[in-house]
Amino acid sequence: MKKVVKFGGSSLASAQQFQKAGSIIRAEKSRRYVIPSAPGKRFDKDIKVTDMLYECYETAIGGKNFDEKLKKIRERYDEIIEGLGLTLSLEKEFEQIHDFFEKGAGRNYAASRGEYLNGIIMAAYLGFDFIDAAEVIFFDDNGIFDAEKTNKILSERLKKSEYAVIPGFYGSMPGGKIKTFSRGGSDITGSIVARAAKADMYENWTDVSGFLVTDPHLVENPEPIETITYRELRELAYMGASVLHDEAIFPVRSEGIPINIRNTNDPAAPGTMIVESTCKKPKYTITGIAGKQGFAAVNIEKDRMNSEIGFGRKVLSVFEDSGISFEHIPSGIDTMSVFVHQSEFEEKEQKVLAGIHRAVRPDYLEVESDLALIAVVGRGMRSTRGTAGRIFSALAHANINIRMIDQGSSELNIIIGVSNEDFEAAVRAIYDIFVTLCLLEFSQNVISK
Ligand code: ASP
Repeated sequence: MKKVVKFGGSSLASAQQFQKAGSIIRAEKSRRYVIPSAPGKRFDKDIKVTDMLYECYETAIGGKNFDEKLKKIRERYDEIIEGLGLTLSLEKEFEQIHDFFEKGAGRNYAASRGEYLNGIIMAAYLGFDFIDAAEVIFFDDNGIFDAEKTNKILSERLKKSEYAVIPGFYGSMPGGKIKTFSRGGSDITGSIVARAAKADMYENWTDVSGFLVTDPHLVENPEPIETITYRELRELAYMGASVLHDEAIFPVRSEGIPINIRNTNDPAAPGTMIVESTCKKPKYTITGIAGKQGFAAVNIEKDRMNSEIGFGRKVLSVFEDSGISFEHIPSGIDTMSVFVHQSEFEEKEQKVLAGIHRAVRPDYLEVESDLALIAVVGRGMRSTRGTAGRIFSALAHANINIRMIDQGSSELNIIIGVSNEDFEAAVRAIYDIFVTLCLLEFSQNVISK
């Protein structure tokens, strides 16, 4: 058994958090490759080291004195080193960073130092090898991640180290320039290392016990999701559920390596397993509910639209020409609606409407605003009768008017459009009908037995 374990910023924000991570790693010999993030927030109003680095670098390239800002960053690391009782000095590293900042080494270089330094501390603390990500994670000249080159070189390098720490978030471009992934990118590094190591499992340790059925801001204490497929995760993540970086599933997905989201502050909790496919039925028919507010719909009506070849293409090309991506296009016989992000659409609205008039000469054109989309996602829906019926009766009972329904062709999700103001109540109603009711029935069964 071989595991790659990634720890997020809040899991490594202080010496105390490092100790928790350390005991998790030491608890299993199979936890061989460790991917640290930069130190995150220790408390609510705290600042992540990555943000401190960005700011410090801005000051440096603005030609101002950045000594004080760099000192504050160093203090974050020194506090961890001292708290762990290590005899390690980052003096040389900080001298070099100072020097490189003065020379304008780039924002990417600046940000990457957060995980680089944390990696050095982690390796010293665990007694593992340190592998600089710049030597094993590669981007091409255009800054696009080079998966094949990385996999080849990284897998060779890992063979030489039974236990190693590889900092997350960055790699290098041809010529050695440091390049980072987008924010939260250590999740991607973990996945890349898991693929190269041919790991049995990619454990992603964070500060929540996995994915929840819905957003805890909308429903109090939602139930955790035990197992979710990559495809379900994509659907939910797209609609705003975020625990893991969007790109992080691809490297492991191609190798069928499961991801286990775990909580550093509650290591006994099993967390969420993210898998390719599973015969495990979701506990509540649905796997998750996610949604977003702030959509607009352009409703187009034209007699005999259905027999006009190219109608849809002409409409969509108007959106394309204005650089607006569409989210959903539910259609009827003589009607078609295009859902877009309101903020993206607003400023180009009149241009788009004029464009549609010119392109298809509609009989009627109307814009609806302030809509929310809710995705009810679940692999269990395909084989369960009445799922849509339950959703709609729950919404009817809650007095919520449904403005749009769209069942994805994968039968993995049902998308429902409601007005922004009904959004929270709608999510709660759907949660209650599937989860709360199920839990209630379960507890009643237990009592009657
Ligand atoms: N430290 C980086 C960030 O704050 C990357 C990461 O934590 O994954 O975005």
